[in-house]
Amino acid sequence: MNSNVFDVIILGTGPAGLQAAIHAVRSKASVLVLGKQHKSSLYRAHIENYCCLSKVDGETLLQDGRKQAEHFGAKFLDEDAVEIKQADSWFHIKVESGKEIRSRAIIFALGIFRNKLNVRGEKELLGRGVSYCVDCDANFYRDEPVAVAGSESAALTGALTLLFYTKEVHLVCPKLEATEALAKQIRESPIQLHEGRNVKQILGENEFLSR
Ligand SMILES: Cc1cc2nc3c(=O)[nH]c(=O)nc-3n(C[C@H](O)[C@H](O)[C@H](O)COP(=O)(O)OP(=O)(O)OC[C@H]3O[C@@H](n4cnc5c(N)ncnc54)[C@H](O)[C@@H]3O)c2cc1C
Repeated sequence: MNSNVFDVIILGTGPAGLQAAIHAVRSKASVLVLGKQHKSSLYRAHIENYCCLSKVDGETLLQDGRKQAEHFGAKFLDEDAVEIKQADSWFHIKVESGKEIRSRAIIFALGIFRNKLNVRGEKELLGRGVSYCVDCDANFYRDEPVAVAGSESAALTGALTLLFYTKEVHLVCPKLEATEALAKQIRESPIQLHEGRNVKQILGENEFLSR
């Protein structure tokens, strides 16, 4: 990287950061993208619901997006921002190596944080049977036994949705915390309710999901 001064610095190399980079650099802004691609939540995903791409893995898609942005002139630095200050109409961004970079604008494309169980196997099996989005991933579990962990409405409605895909749905929760109507719907459904239980560990095979 030759310069420490950019029109736009983008924090995040996931799809949001890459798309922002492509638009900004094509508008003739000088652009630096910060962040680590392997930390994008898409990195380990197996994607089959993107229009015009029948099947692709997240790592390939992200690498292609980076090449596309680089083709138009965007620069990348595989480091996280650790400090941001504003002075004299500039943003001063310090990265992990201690280097300081200046920009006129910052775009935050940092993704989202998902609630985790923080149990053994959860991280290792992400994208290999562990999911955080029923609407995105239910089709992977068609006709397979599925367990949903969670007490609140998102988990409960997710478990009900899964019944459209598979007969064997388990709901594991310390206590149902939903409206009476939703709790009743769960109790009267074929869902196997394991109330008063917590997930302690997730065991599974190390295979990418594919349908
Ligand atoms: C297992 C799994 C499967 C999925 N499957 C699909 C699918 O099939 N189809 C689909 O559409 N979506 C899928 N998703 C969702 C998809 O991954 C997200 O919607 C998408 O990645 C969000 O993009 P983003 O750019 O907002 O954030 P992310 O891709 O999460 O990127 C966030 C970026 O911010 C960076 N960052 C964080 N802190 C800093 C910092 N201090 N400085 C610089 N950079 C920082 C990270 O390094 C990362 O590059 C899946 C997600 C998971 C977990």
